[in-house]
Amino acid sequence: VTSSGDFLLTVLSGGTGTSKLLQGLSQILKPEELSVIVNTGEDVEISGLNVSPDLDTVMYALAGIVNEKTWYGIKDDSFFCHEALKSLGHVELLRIGDRDRATKLYRTLMLKRGKKLTTISKELCEKFGVRANVMPMSDERVQTRISTENGVMTFHEFWVARKASDRVLGISFDGVDNAKPAPGVLEAIEVADSILIGPSNPITSMGPILAVEEIREALSRDSGRVVAVSPIVGDAPISGPATVLMQGLGHEVSPLGVARIYRGVAGTLVMNSTDEKFGPSIDELGIKTVFTNTLMPDRAARIRLARELLDI
Ligand code: GDP
Repeated sequence: VTSSGDFLLTVLSGGTGTSKLLQGLSQILKPEELSVIVNTGEDVEISGLNVSPDLDTVMYALAGIVNEKTWYGIKDDSFFCHEALKSLGHVELLRIGDRDRATKLYRTLMLKRGKKLTTISKELCEKFGVRANVMPMSDERVQTRISTENGVMTFHEFWVARKASDRVLGISFDGVDNAKPAPGVLEAIEVADSILIGPSNPITSMGPILAVEEIREALSRDSGRVVAVSPIVGDAPISGPATVLMQGLGHEVSPLGVARIYRGVAGTLVMNSTDEKFGPSIDELGIKTVFTNTLMPDRAARIRLARELLDI
């Protein structure tokens, strides 16, 4: 806790799972107490637009306007442009809404003018009334590529187009070797009282962030401050393709598998109360275990879990 009495929390985030938790955390913490480092490995160009799916989901979630049916885009958005493109014979991989498209177009135009992703994200957050410090993990382009038995794919080809139906052989984060943490990222890690690895896909959402060497090093230096929440309950994720991705890379799909991935980075793993049987094996890895209800179907559950995590 700083001299001003603030509790500084820095959260590592993907799209869906951690965004739910951020909704809860933002009801308790002051905006200036909350920093979020967001995965950009799923960034992709669609219809000439620079789409940063996780940055937008985090921003919309904190602004209270995210579409909670899909966890991308803006709720109650219209799709005139998407449909008009379709009638012209251009079918988009993602259903991008009209207002959401404006966000993506703004980002694209500003990148063309030479602005950095970090600056653009700050501007967008300001415009959407989000005062927490939301940052991309890096301003350099990092692209997640999934090798499957049917070829190498981006995350969107693998998940959105092919519904994770291909056997996974490996994964790479192209560009990560030259990726520097975005401005403010290392500072946010350094000054934080605690760092939270949210309940996001450990392979494609947290994987790219932790593959940025300087970020991983900064976290590992003081892993006692780092608390992770397992996105896996029992032997499955709540949503998304974590099962085939973890299996493909030889990981057990369980909180123990998650603990092994975060070993050396996280000092504590929070998991669902039904998973106590994994406790002893995770203790053996030198990771502290905490059991609680980690399911966040609604606002009340998100606030409750956020409060419990802040107590930890
Ligand atoms: P993506 O960028 O949309 O793939 O999103 P994330 O990686 O952030 O979110 C997907 C992960 O969130 C999955 O592995 C889910 O298991 C996890 N998740 C979603 N909802 C919940 C929840 O209520 N509780 C927990 N513990 N995990 C969740």
